[in-house]
This record gives sequence, structure tokens and C-alpha cells, in this order.
Amino acid sequence: MKCPHCQTACSRSPNVSNLGRVGEIDGKVCFWSVEVHSCPECRKPVLSLIQSLLEPDSIPTVGFSVFRHPDDDRTRKSVVVPRGAARPLAPPEVPADIASDFNEACLVLVDSPKASAALSRRCLEHLLRERKVSTEENLSRAIEDALATHLPPNIGDNLDAIRNIGNFAAHPQKSERSGEILDVEPGEAEWNLDVLESLFDHYYVQPAKSAARREALDKKLAEVGKKPMKQP
Ligand SMILES: [Zn+2]
Repeated sequence: MKCPHCQTACSRSPNVSNLGRVGEIDGKVCFWSVEVHSCPECRKPVLSLIQSLLEPDSIPTVGFSVFRHPDDDRTRKSVVVPRGAARPLAPPEVPADIASDFNEACLVLVDSPKASAALSRRCLEHLLRERKVSTEENLSRAIEDALATHLPPNIGDNLDAIRNIGNFAAHPQKSERSGEILDVEPGEAEWNLDVLESLFDHYYVQPAKSAARREALDKKLAEVGKKPMKQP
């Protein structure tokens, strides 16, 4: 799995503590376990609560492993620390203020899609300004500016759809005061977060990866006495 704190893939196997049987759902017995591990990279803790549904007459033995059916609908895993980590946090390449709005938008998504959408709209506006894609204060026009920069078609179409899914035409405040808490359309808050994830990759993660690759190559070129590559 990827560490929800630092996004590094961590292979260390987690410790599982079984909490035992608590409750029933649809005639099945719920068996609860907690999976804990610390990321080998950033050392932060990750705790997941696992619910397995068992036949009433089946008795899990000591050391019963919930991993027997990882993709099975009898087993459900939710990350409880860090909270709201059903969606990965913003990658480390993203500037702190933008990452903080995104992470908070993910955190409150389940409890308040309205608050989440307000944070994600504000986050989008800041991102487009920070990347110098647009200086517009109006989010709809800032999206227009971004579309004019020839984004990859899938990213551009999804960004454009933020305005339709959020019904910006009927709610101009979403463009004019992006961070205001307003009613949301079904799926709007999730959509905004999906689009932000792809924009983070496009504007921050991929350029950082390319820069690191160029730097490595320049180092090799320098070792053999050659000039560095041209800057993009
Ligand atoms: Zn980590």
C-alpha cells in the first residue's frame, strides 16, 4: 500500500490485532481487527479498522487473518489514522497552503460535502493562480484561462465539467466567491477532489519528476565532460 501521509509505497507488513466479534449485519457476525504500522519512510502511524462478516457458526481461530479475503465483500477496511485518508493526501510536491485546503476538503467530505466543495473550489483557484495559469478572481473565468493552455484532453474536459456538475450557471457565487459555503449538487464535492488530484499530478508531480530525471542526466553528462541538456 501507499503511505497516506507521504505517498511512498511501503511494503512493511502491518501488525493485526483482532478485537473479536461485535454486532451482526444481515445475519452475519461482524469480526473486527485493527491493522497498525508505521511508514518506513516518514515514520508516521497508519491505523486501519477492518470489519469481516462471518457466518454465525464459523469460529475464527486465534491468529485468524482478515487478509484471507482481501478483495472480498466480506472484508471492509477503513483507514482511521490519518483521518479522512480514504483519499490520499496531496503529494509533497504541492505547496503547503494549497495542500492544506485539499487535505481538509478530503477530511470533511463525508460529514459536509458543502464545506468540502467550498475548500476545493478555493484550492483550485489558488492552484491556477500559483501556477500562473490565470490571474482571474472569478473561478469560472480562471478555468477558461486554464482550458486555453491546452491541458491534456482528459484533464481539460474534467476541469471544464466542474462548472457544469456544480451548476455554476445557477450559482454564480461559486465563481465569484469560490470559498463560500453553498449547496452542492450530487457528486460535485467528489468531482472537485478528483480533478484537483489530476491537476496536482499535471502541474506539480510530473514536472518535479522530469526535473529530477534531467538533473540525474546532467550529472552523468558532466561526469563525461559534456554540456548539460537544454532547459525546457
Ligand atoms: Zn509515509
